[in-house]
Amino acid sequence: GPRIGVLALQGDVREHLAALEASGARVTTVRRAGELDAVDGLVIPGGESTTMSHLLTVLELFEPLSRRLADGLPAYGSCAGMIMLASTILDTRPDARHLDALDITVRRNAFGRQVESFETDLEIAGITDGADAGPMRAVFIRAPWVESVAPEVQVLARVPDGPAQGRIVAVRQDNVLATSFHPEVTGDHRVHAYFVDMVREVSGSDRGVGTIDT
Ligand code: GLN
Repeated sequence: GPRIGVLALQGDVREHLAALEASGARVTTVRRAGELDAVDGLVIPGGESTTMSHLLTVLELFEPLSRRLADGLPAYGSCAGMIMLASTILDTRPDARHLDALDITVRRNAFGRQVESFETDLEIAGITDGADAGPMRAVFIRAPWVESVAPEVQVLARVPDGPAQGRIVAVRQDNVLATSFHPEVTGDHRVHAYFVDMVREVSGSDRGVGTIDT
């Protein structure tokens, strides 16, 4: 399988590694630029995006990661990971940096302070409508939502009901996938399996750059 890294600065690193491995990837943690060079795809977990921005800078990973994303590295960001990948962030700190790999505007902590966390069943285009059909339980934890997308961005899921009905919570643009929610906590691996397939498509056709295949 493709070699997929999980950025291991914050968040549910172990759960992401397990879900990717169960989906056929060879997995590794990424904390240094050398480790980033060796992966065909990268998962950016949840956490706190302003802290993650700071850690990426301190560990000298920010520029290498920006470069690899600009070169087409497949990436999947969950929650704070979605925020990091976005091109425009609302309600963040002025010094927070982001990777600008996905042409979307996200609003941090968008679902409000009263309802910091909630769960709902989601239909996700290309993910819950395949052979393994049926809605997916989605867990939102102080989550962002996607306020708007560029025309090149595919909207994969919207909140089906409640006060946030219609809000965009899963998107894809080329090799970059992002969800507002945390699929690593439910044991349903379909989002991870979808990402592993994305990476497989890219690394199968365009094998090489920075990758040592053993
Ligand atoms: N609220 C966090 C942020 O703004 C994201 C929360 C999460 O990743 N679960 O970065």
